[in-house]
Amino acid sequence: MLSYRHSFHAGNHADVLKHTVQSLIITALKEKEKPFLYLDTHAGAGRYQLSGEHAERTGEYLEGIARVWQQSDLPEELAPYISCVKALNHGPTLRYYPGSPLIARQLLREEDKLELTELHPSDFPLLRSEFQKDSRARLARADGFQQLKAKLPPPSRRGLILIDPPYEMKSDYQAVVKGIQEGYRRFSTGVFALWYPVVLRQQIKRMVHDLEATGIRRILQIELAVRPDSDRFGMTASGMIVINPPWKLEQQMNNVLPWLHRVLVPAGTGHTSVSWIVPE
Ligand code: SAM
Repeated sequence: MLSYRHSFHAGNHADVLKHTVQSLIITALKEKEKPFLYLDTHAGAGRYQLSGEHAERTGEYLEGIARVWQQSDLPEELAPYISCVKALNHGPTLRYYPGSPLIARQLLREEDKLELTELHPSDFPLLRSEFQKDSRARLARADGFQQLKAKLPPPSRRGLILIDPPYEMKSDYQAVVKGIQEGYRRFSTGVFALWYPVVLRQQIKRMVHDLEATGIRRILQIELAVRPDSDRFGMTASGMIVINPPWKLEQQMNNVLPWLHRVLVPAGTGHTSVSWIVPE
């Protein structure tokens, strides 16, 4: 089943959280000279046109990136992320939104590598055309979960693995845990970042429980909710689960989340949290 298109949701509050975390991890990895791999298991199309039919139909970005990108008191933790949004929009009008591969492309160095996987027959060609001239990148129209076995460990022995499935199928909640377990077995020093939506809280509780049961340590959970949990109103929150987070990430997210929540949710509903599922 491949009915999910990220173009309907690009730039929403969940993307703002995900891409903030992604950009802070990449920035931390760049503090060491040694190159690293960025592996994106579910890469999407790369670039999203916000004036396009899909984005306009839902208008989700209007309650996401549109509220954030031109604020005058932007916290420093958002600087790498917002620099990517600005690099794609030459001027004051928000026309395009960078997906995770374009954020990585903008922030990675010449010596770093990208491995990008996308399965959708319409989105894969769009992604491929974005990266045609980038010799750092390798693209595959393949199953992202398989890449956690096929591409790890990277020769550089350093890397960020972003796992961002659409959760169209309920089995994705189990597949992500199995995939992480397989990837971690091959590359236990990698930084693994898993995105999740909160649609039914019980599904997330079960997924977190399954992750705990793997025995993996150093698992940080970061969440931003725009509404209280509910079983009736679709996605009320989203989060990032990060294994082996850079040491500053916990503090950085504690600094920036109250600001993000205030700007993204003027009504003040929902919550933010940063907590360890499993500590050191
Ligand atoms: N990571 C992207 C970003 O932040 O810009 C968004 C990705 S979107 C949430 C999920 C993507 O996974 C969709 O484009 C979908 O076509 C793709 N997809 C679904 N199943 C897949 C699979 N088994 N392997 C790889 N890609 C898959």
